[in-house]
Amino acid sequence: MAEETMQFKTELEQLLHLITHSLYSHREVFLRELISNACDAIDKVRFEGLNNEEILEGHSDWKITLKADEEAKTLTISDNGIGMSREQVIENLGTIAHSGTKAFLAKAKEADLENNPDLIGQFGVGFYASFMVADDVTVVTKAHGEPAVKWESKGTGEFTLSDADKTERGTEITLHLKEDATEYLNEWTIRTTVKKFSDFLEHPVVLLTKEKDEKTEIEEEKEEQINTQKAIWLRPKNEITDEEYGEFYKHISHDTNSPAETIHYNAEGAIEFKALLFIPEHKPFDMMMNNDPKAHLNLYVQRVFISNEFDNLLPGYLRFVKGVVDSSDLPLNVSREILQENPMLDKIRKNLTARVLKTLANMKKKDYKEFEIFHENFSAILKEGLQSDWENKEKIADLLLFESTNKAAGEKTCFADYVENMAEGQKEILYLAGENRSSIENSPYLESFKADGKEVLLMIDPIDDFVIPQLMEYKGKKLKAVNKGDIEEDKEKLKDEEKVFEGFIGYAKDLLDGIKEVKLTSRLKDSAAVLVGDEYSMSPHIEEMMRRMGQDVPPRESVLELNPEHAVVKKVQALYAADANDPKVESLTKLLHDQAVIASGAKLSDPAGFAARMNAFLAD
Ligand code: ADP
Repeated sequence: MAEETMQFKTELEQLLHLITHSLYSHREVFLRELISNACDAIDKVRFEGLNNEEILEGHSDWKITLKADEEAKTLTISDNGIGMSREQVIENLGTIAHSGTKAFLAKAKEADLENNPDLIGQFGVGFYASFMVADDVTVVTKAHGEPAVKWESKGTGEFTLSDADKTERGTEITLHLKEDATEYLNEWTIRTTVKKFSDFLEHPVVLLTKEKDEKTEIEEEKEEQINTQKAIWLRPKNEITDEEYGEFYKHISHDTNSPAETIHYNAEGAIEFKALLFIPEHKPFDMMMNNDPKAHLNLYVQRVFISNEFDNLLPGYLRFVKGVVDSSDLPLNVSREILQENPMLDKIRKNLTARVLKTLANMKKKDYKEFEIFHENFSAILKEGLQSDWENKEKIADLLLFESTNKAAGEKTCFADYVENMAEGQKEILYLAGENRSSIENSPYLESFKADGKEVLLMIDPIDDFVIPQLMEYKGKKLKAVNKGDIEEDKEKLKDEEKVFEGFIGYAKDLLDGIKEVKLTSRLKDSAAVLVGDEYSMSPHIEEMMRRMGQDVPPRESVLELNPEHAVVKKVQALYAADANDPKVESLTKLLHDQAVIASGAKLSDPAGFAARMNAFLAD
């Protein structure tokens, strides 16, 4: 094959531009990224080799080798992992293959990283981090049964591909270091950087050093292993520092912050496994970018890495959890697909789920401030569990925080506190969902509850309206949306008024579109009218949101409730009684409806008509 020059995909070119032009701090992460890739490549071939020994080609002395050449100013990182075919090289090193890179670009724009270069090093950019320290990068790689190929780039718009003469499977990456990055030729620097980032990797990281034999004066190459290679989850808890946990978390999560909580335990008894799980504090950005609804943990069987693709070790609503599970009860030599079906995994999932929920409950109890941050970032995901995990519904509900009519804006309460403070004789947990606090805190739906001193939870996360109804009840108390269904009312009191309003009510129902019933209510104090949905209907603001997303929303059939004590309601009733054909009756009735629509959080279907009706009255 002749040499071939190819262009990087545009997004990648932007990324490389940013890396080569503005990355100065945290440069040492390039070594973590490259060693991490080498380690993954070894894991991959080792796993494939379980079922297909041929692919190992007799090399299974897993090793990642680092070699510095002072004269040539190069640092080489090589592995005997899975290697890449020509197509794979183009796919992996020429396009934006991994989600993190895309996320990085989005984030880079958002944070204006070009002008804030110090921030950049905090993001993982994978292989391309090489260009933070190198002005020329060569990758020579060979996959089983494929010819070796050489990729070379200066990190500008293009890369070249050509034949290579590597004979053994694996990948060798040579960095020609920039003038100001030659410190990475220094053995001490290499040693400390590897220790910091990669000490726990389960494959040996070896530094090739030269030693002069004192007698013969001949230089000999020596191998020095620089990582201790102890799988962190197998070590006793009390011997592991927070820093070590933190580095390991960063290694598996691509997050740059430390985790909020670390869960490390051995399960013993019916099923035995070791788990090391982390609850992040903030969303790692691969998570912000990718909407994968499943949870992924790294599964090891008897210390052999099987996959990070397993999505049934934790339910999807705990997908923010990162970590490792190592089981010696699972069979090693089976395909991923068969393993995925193993009933043991079910048991492991139950156990892990319980642990995570318990940890979160403890966090809420002991470190409320930190819990609030967690809640801010992940509660929308956690709430999905109300829908999917019936067994743990109440435990999940216990972890949710809400605004409330009894608290200042921004302050939160929870179901447990709500129930504890319930008014005497109150049977239901009352809530109102809406777009934001200010749009609902003065809502007519709240008037009677405020007057009675009853607390109403204000649910302003868009997902609330979908998932909270699924909870149905909490500690035996029914959940009740105050804008849906009937509320407890003084029926006796309304009886007399109903007689007076009977004729007008029939008239209004025939006149108004989308209204299946008109009735009197005692739920209102200051407002004249309110729209009430079915017990299980969506709230108007959610319908609005769905419409904006281009979804079909079936026409809503609501109940219009009128406050018989209100002056306007009394007036229109009197006008109707005097002369049912008076045009004012029609426009006033429509105005009552219009204002109820607005207060419900929905949009008027005929805003111009509303303005005309209003103006007619104002000019009157
Ligand atoms: P990530 O590792 O997060 O996927 P990178 O940009 O670091 O992103 O690498 C892109 C892809 O290139 C990897 O997913 C992997 O398939 C491939 N790759 C990188 N380094 C190696 C290596 N040493 N051996 C084999 N494949 C590699």
